[in-house]
Order: sequence, then C-alpha cells, then structure tokens
Amino acid sequence: MGKIVKLDECLSNKIAAGEVVERPASIVKELVENSIDANSTSIHIQVEDGGMQKIRIVDNGDGIENEDCLVAFHRHATSKIRTDKDLFRIKTLGFRGEALPSIASVSYLQLKTCTGNGPGTVVNIEGGKIIESGSSSSRKGTDITVTNLFYNTPARLKYLKTVHTELGNITDYVYRLAMSYPSISFQLDHNGKKVFSSNGNGDLRQVIAAIYGMNIAKQMVYFEGSSLDFKISGYVCKPEVTRASRQYMSTFINYRYIKNYPLTKAIQDGYHTLLPIGRYPVVVLHIEMDPSIIDVNVHPSKLEVRLSKEAELNTLVTNTIKATFKQVSLIPEVKTPK
Ligand code: ADP
Ligand code: MG
Repeated sequence: MGKIVKLDECLSNKIAAGEVVERPASIVKELVENSIDANSTSIHIQVEDGGMQKIRIVDNGDGIENEDCLVAFHRHATSKIRTDKDLFRIKTLGFRGEALPSIASVSYLQLKTCTGNGPGTVVNIEGGKIIESGSSSSRKGTDITVTNLFYNTPARLKYLKTVHTELGNITDYVYRLAMSYPSISFQLDHNGKKVFSSNGNGDLRQVIAAIYGMNIAKQMVYFEGSSLDFKISGYVCKPEVTRASRQYMSTFINYRYIKNYPLTKAIQDGYHTLLPIGRYPVVVLHIEMDPSIIDVNVHPSKLEVRLSKEAELNTLVTNTIKATFKQVSLIPEVKTPK
C-alpha cells in the first residue's frame, strides 16, 4: 500500500489557516472584507481583549442564502469567481474561498445570516466541525462571532502578543478599510467602548480627521490625476506636517490596501526637496485601474500585488503631487495682530 494519503478537509483547513489567520487582526480583516464584498453600508466590529477573547462583526449586507451557509465553510468555496477568466479581472476583495473555513478550523464560530427574504440561518462550528445549524432571525445582514481563537493550535496561541499590540493591529486594519471605503460607516468597539467610528458619508477628509485628528485633516490637500491606464486621487499633507514613519502613507489599488515600496517612493519624489530628511508625509492615495493589469493573487493576505505598467503609474503619482504643490500656497498662514 502506498504511503501518500489525502488529508481530511478539517486538517487541510488548519494548515491553510497558518497563512490566512495569523492573528486577531487577520480575522477582522477577512471578515470585514467579506462584509464589504456583500455590499454592506454599515459594519460594526466588536472585539474583546485585543480580539483574543472575542471578535464579532455585524453587517447590513446581502446575507448568505440558507443553502449556501454550510458550503461557505468548505475550502475554495466562493460566490465571487467562477472561471479562470474571472481570476484575471477581480473586482471583489475576496476570491480564494479560504477565510471562513480557515477561521472556523481554529476557533469556535457562530454565523447568523439572512438575505432579507424569509428567515435566516444560524450555524455553530467548533474547530471546523459543524455542531448545529438552524433558522434564525430575519434581520438582513450577517453577524459572525469568533471565540476560543487558536484553542487547538497551541503554538499560534503562544505567539499572540499583548492586548495592546493585538488591538493596535486591528485598529490599523480598520483605519485602512475606513480610508478605502469612506461611504461605509465603520465602528470599532474594544471591551464595550467605542475606539473608532466613521460616518460613511463618503467624505475621505472626514475619515482622515477621525483617524489622524482635525489638525492634520485641515493640512491635507486634495489631488487627482490620470494617465492612459490609471486614475489617481486622494490627499497629501503639506510638508510642515510630516511624520517620522512611512506608515502614514496609505495606498489603495481598486479599493484594496496594498504595500508597494516603489509607490511610496514615487509619493516622496512628488514632494521633491520639500520633505526634511528622515521625515515622511501623511498621504492617502487611491488608484483605479483595469483589474486585468494587476495580479492580486500573489500572497494569501493580498497585501502585495504585481502590477504591469508600474513605471507609468509611478510617474503619474510623482507628477500629480508635484503639480498639486505648485498650485497651493505652502507658506503657513501667519495671523497678524490687528
Ligand atoms: P471569499 O471571500 O474568498 O469568497 P470566504 O471564505 O471569505 O471566501 O467566504 C466564502 C463565501 O461566503 C463568500 O464568497 C460569500 O459568498 C459568503 N460570505 C462570507 N461572509 C459574508 C458576509 N458577511 N455577507 C455575505 N456573504 C458572505
Ligand atoms: Mg473572504
């Protein structure tokens, strides 16, 4: 008899969870991205003890059909792509069909969901095993609660940091999601207290004010530009409000937060000599492009992407920021006493 066996799905989900579910913040990211893909306009995130005790995400999105509720927990089960071709024109944040089965395999998970047509569904899963399923309330939307995170993966559990660090990671993700979707109202509560909220009125400057404070928001200048393949827009801070870290530069491609060093370099080049050495700007950059010229299937977290026409994009970013600063007065207003 041969030695090779096909692992059962529960075990293979646990292995996938190693990549997809690194810490509480990755769960918040995956679940909130699902809420966004489901056309939610309001997303409430409640976490306890940095997400290590409990993570609950309540949205008002499309909900999941009764007959899809169990399928959704199978690996590579997704409503977002169907064919090879779809993989090269991704418009949703998710498409791998890995988050729900991965999260469910390393925690206790309760899903309550309803499409608004008739009663909804409730499913309870422990360590990837379905414990019970039945019908639930008919409030449209989805409500997912994750507890006992990593109870069956002791090494992962040990690797978790302090409440403060885990909450910091969660807050960072929520900030980025709020900056990427100003038309969605987000609220983050920690141990029952509100930590952050955005009102969802579509005004990016107000989201920036909620995250970085009114003073910074007032010092931000709107910019927009376009080339053959790209449309960019966002806010750049005036040079006098720079920071000592690169993390205040947030870049989004087709509403997905991404990290891309050449892009942040292009932003800094736009400031040219206006940036003091060792200082970085506060920037929110939105890029829109045809999904076929970007490959988001590089890493499970989709934080890194591969772009064709990168040089065209970087030049556009640098030149647009340069032109913006040429137009606005950079001399701080001095109030003269009367
Ligand atoms: P993916 O997002 O890559 O499709 P997931 O495992 O995250 O994979 O989710 C599986 C499926 O469950 C999704 O394709 C979607 O149809 C459904 N789903 C998950 N979360 C939600 C939600 N909050 N609202 C509506 N549908 C959801
Ligand atoms: Mg998903």
